[in-house]
Amino acid sequence: MNDVSPICSAKGCRTTAAWVLAWNNPKLHTPDRRKTWLACDEHREHLSRFLDLRGFLKDVVPFGQWQEPEDPAATPNPAAPEAPEAS
Ligand SMILES: [Zn+2]
Repeated sequence: MNDVSPICSAKGCRTTAAWVLAWNNPKLHTPDRRKTWLACDEHREHLSRFLDLRGFLKDVVPFGQWQEPEDPAATPNPAAPEAPEAS
């Protein structure tokens, strides 16, 4: 854990986040990819409904229980098609 207070992702909200909303846009992301939004108690329902309506919402997790999945971009995969050629 780090010391930075998580802030709610809702526009204009500066409240400390208490929830992590994990989501995935199948048109943009591979199925195991997780984007995350942070939400305070007030905005959790609003933000999760926004994602749920679009079929993007995967999980809502209390912030303290969230474990960041390994970011595929941080662990270069030699088989990834976008890996640059070292020529
Ligand atoms: Zn908020």
